[in-house]
Amino acid sequence: MGSKVRAVVKLHVAWSDSWEFTHGLHDGLPLLPTKWAPRHLLATKNQLKALGKRPGGHDPVALLYGYSKRGNCQWFAPLYLISKAKPKLVMTPRKWHSLNLANLARRECKRCHRARDYVIPPTFGMCFPCVEAGENTDTTTLSGVAA
Ligand SMILES: [Zn+2]
Repeated sequence: MGSKVRAVVKLHVAWSDSWEFTHGLHDGLPLLPTKWAPRHLLATKNQLKALGKRPGGHDPVALLYGYSKRGNCQWFAPLYLISKAKPKLVMTPRKWHSLNLANLARRECKRCHRARDYVIPPTFGMCFPCVEAGENTDTTTLSGVAA
């Protein structure tokens, strides 16, 4: 069993004006064990979501870490400042409408202009029946295969 004890390091951190105890730096971010992160100041993406917020382009200011229940696997979760988080984007009827139009455009065949119930592969640019019809009428490739 490898040692799980990390050295305690006092660092200047984004969520406090004074030194805070951390477990050093990981990927350039202060590392905090689960019980050390101030819940009223820092939150993971999922915790922000539960608060109706999102990181809003801000980088994480710390990394939360812990071990799986069996203790054989370590996990990390970026922590964001709750004070800098932005409200979660709300879908308005207009936004839903434009999203629906965009999705419809992705399903419309450029050749037969039918809306399919799947996304048209960009490499083909047309629906599968059109691709197959195009292959069947292309006699040069067919005779090439047959020869
Ligand atoms: Zn088509």
